[in-house]
Amino acid sequence: PPVVHSHETFVQWQKILIASAEAEQLWNYWQQQLSGDLPALNLPTDRPRPPLQTYNGASHTLSIPENLTQQLKKLAQSQGTTLYTVLLAAFQVLLHRYTGQDDILVGSPTASRHRSEFTRIVGYLVNPVVMRADLSPNPSFTEFLNQVRNTVLGAIEHQDYPFPLIVERLHSHRDLSRSSLFQACFVLQKLQQTPDVLKLYSHQVGSAIEWGGLVLEPYEMPQQEGQFDLTLEIADADSCLVGVLKYNADLFNREAIASMSNHLQAILTGIVTEPERQIRQISLLSEQEKHQLLVQWNQTAREYPADKCIHQLFAEQVEKTPLSVAVVFEKQQLTYQQLNQKANQLAHYLQNLGVEKETLVGICVERSVEMVVGILGILKAGGAYVPIDPNYPPERLSYILADASVDVLLTQQSLLDSLPSHSAKVVCLDTDWQAIAQHSQDNFDVAVSAENLVYIIYTSGSTGKPKGVQITHKNLVHSTNARLQYYQNYQEIVNSFLLLSSYAFDSSVAGIFWTLCSGGKLILPQEGWQQENTKVIDLILENQVSHLLCLPSLYTLILAQAQTQELASLKIIIVAGEACPSNLVKQHYLQLPASFLFNEYGPTEATVWSSVYYCQSPELPKVPIGSPIANTEIYILDADLQPVPIGVMGEIYITGLGLARGYLHRPDLTQEKFIINPFQNSPYPNLYKTGDLGRYLPNQNIEYLGRIDNQVKIRGFRIELGEIEVVINQLPAVKSCVAIAREDIPGSKRLVAYITTSDSSLTTYQLREFLQQKLPEYMIPSALVLLDSLPLTPNGK
Ligand code: AMP
Ligand code: MG
Repeated sequence: PPVVHSHETFVQWQKILIASAEAEQLWNYWQQQLSGDLPALNLPTDRPRPPLQTYNGASHTLSIPENLTQQLKKLAQSQGTTLYTVLLAAFQVLLHRYTGQDDILVGSPTASRHRSEFTRIVGYLVNPVVMRADLSPNPSFTEFLNQVRNTVLGAIEHQDYPFPLIVERLHSHRDLSRSSLFQACFVLQKLQQTPDVLKLYSHQVGSAIEWGGLVLEPYEMPQQEGQFDLTLEIADADSCLVGVLKYNADLFNREAIASMSNHLQAILTGIVTEPERQIRQISLLSEQEKHQLLVQWNQTAREYPADKCIHQLFAEQVEKTPLSVAVVFEKQQLTYQQLNQKANQLAHYLQNLGVEKETLVGICVERSVEMVVGILGILKAGGAYVPIDPNYPPERLSYILADASVDVLLTQQSLLDSLPSHSAKVVCLDTDWQAIAQHSQDNFDVAVSAENLVYIIYTSGSTGKPKGVQITHKNLVHSTNARLQYYQNYQEIVNSFLLLSSYAFDSSVAGIFWTLCSGGKLILPQEGWQQENTKVIDLILENQVSHLLCLPSLYTLILAQAQTQELASLKIIIVAGEACPSNLVKQHYLQLPASFLFNEYGPTEATVWSSVYYCQSPELPKVPIGSPIANTEIYILDADLQPVPIGVMGEIYITGLGLARGYLHRPDLTQEKFIINPFQNSPYPNLYKTGDLGRYLPNQNIEYLGRIDNQVKIRGFRIELGEIEVVINQLPAVKSCVAIAREDIPGSKRLVAYITTSDSSLTTYQLREFLQQKLPEYMIPSALVLLDSLPLTPNGK
């Protein structure tokens, strides 16, 4: 009878090994394999990751048909490798395609029974090894297989080094929400190929068989532990492969794993039919699934007033409700008729100054009734408005004025002194009004068409300068009309809308034109309301505000500070501009169960909004951004512009009637961001590349998953970190700098810049003074940190 060694034998052996010179060689190997940044596997989860790793598991069985199994074995053979390597490589491809990550770490157990004295030890000797794959060059599957084969051979050769020791010696930052080093695991079971075992394995649960005088009944043990995010365990039952995907049930739903299992099969099929195909080109989707994602889910064509300009929609509204109040600011208010008449007077005046279609007219005023008169006057004259926030630092003001080569600038007397020098003709809406009022109050026709510009709004630019997004009447009429149509389902008209956004950002456009094209009252808060949220609550109560559009963070504050009855007039609340936390939806339902809450999503480049989600239920693990609005298509694509499957993260691309003409004077950037639409079924020629990451949920809603680049949102302001860095680098004493958005307190993001200098006398005070000249207040880092050097990764990043 064979000797059964005790577990102690193994432990002793391991101790000796660790102390030996051979161990250092093993360690060197692993140190090299695991050098540089070790990425956490970023699988898109169905629920937020708990801060402490949980071990609640579940499993999904999968079986790979006989035919495919044989082809996989043949592939392994023809490539001079093993089934294990082929399946591991396929699993790594799956993880790469799901995460978009190029650097994929998968763990795999080794049995540690390769020494004869260990073969019959009773006990658990398993030592995992880490297989690291580099998918960055988008290799063909066979090329990749070659890489994985070498990795596997290396890992087997160095498998004896105890895994816990690797973890310890790497000193890598321990993230308590995840398992160490790898979060996905691959196992290929080697079944002892005795007929009895095979018979048992292929037997159905519930039916008994006889075995060595015993009656055995297969019993499927429900998986209860989820040690990793995901484990693929496959058993080779000779004719076919059977297996399970074990997953952490706190992270994933069963449906998500079931469709992941289908995508694994699609990859396996792909690699046996076309092993030379590049990995990112392997299709995870059937033709039918593609059609669903690209065409069926984008059936958004609706009627809209195609040839109209936005001021014509306003004029129609004036006819309908001439005596209703259109705009309210403190004690001042104008009816639709009065507003129209004033705007007409201004338009005539501007025409005399030479304003016509495509003329850019700057408007730099504080919140006031004149602001609305000014915007409408510019449009009625045929021009496009360029809103400029008077609080911007002089340098940004002059940059925008020069970049847009604004011919005429509307402003107020009180702001004249703070304006930088420029060449535009200045019109003061207050002191020049007497002259303006000499002009006719009547509507008049002007040669401007839906294709002409309506406004230009500047957003942060990564190369250091803001960029002007050119929006046409067609874009805005579409955006407004889609709003009228969509919200009609919930509430007939806008009664009274509180305009919280600055007119320099396009969320203001929603409020201004939606309200003025539906006969509602536009309520403007005083300057400085941001400092006092209670003012907003007072305004809501005083004006019986029915519609509100604001950042989720602001709505959170409003709910926290208001008595429920103070908000009773609110019918429709829209949060937009930033990810909406699920707690907010819950809170909304606790306090205002009778009003509707919506999450709108969209970039300035697609005219205010592109998708919307009606938050119907208070219990949502995550709040989606919904589905595309009327006349808008959304695609979620990978880096090769292929649609990604449901549940898989990709970049959000938008097209439709809202798509801007492009960036002013930036043909290169326009071409880069407004790419040619590769999908033939779509009527729209271009796609806007948002830089936002998202995925489709099985119920057709889109979930927002963050950014692909260095654009951040701080208090709703869209900021390119690169723009801040470029400005800091303009100081000669600065050697290098990095700006980041930190979220040390959950829910509260702030900007921090780290700077190295060549002049030790430079102070953060000087830096801050410099930045105040150049950047708007919201772009100035709240902390400036001087460092001796920037901490770099070994490869200099
Ligand atoms: P902006 O052009 O200033 O309107 O900013 C557009 C960007 O804000 C988008 O590209 C997203 O990154 C972000 N954003 C807008 N709405 C949402 C939303 N509902 N959820 C998450 N992010 C959003
Ligand atoms: Mg916006």
